[in-house]
Amino acid sequence: MKLDFCKACGRIVLRGFSFCPYCGMALHAGPDIEEALDSSFSSLEEGMGDQRDRRIRRLIKELSALEVDMDEILHSKA
Ligand SMILES: [Zn+2]
Repeated sequence: MKLDFCKACGRIVLRGFSFCPYCGMALHAGPDIEEALDSSFSSLEEGMGDQRDRRIRRLIKELSALEVDMDEILHSKA
């Protein structure tokens, strides 16, 4: 089902209506709600993916730094 927001009163109106049934405002063809939601969700997921990648890369860096530390400790003892 295609839905639109009335820009005048903000209510959800079935797409295809020329006028808002609530306030009578002429409706213009705007971006689809579902499309708008999809694009905002996918950009959100991309952002989260970036963050996760950065965190994993940082963890790997910290782990390799830790490994170097361990090596130094082991070698200094030996
Ligand atoms: Zn309206």
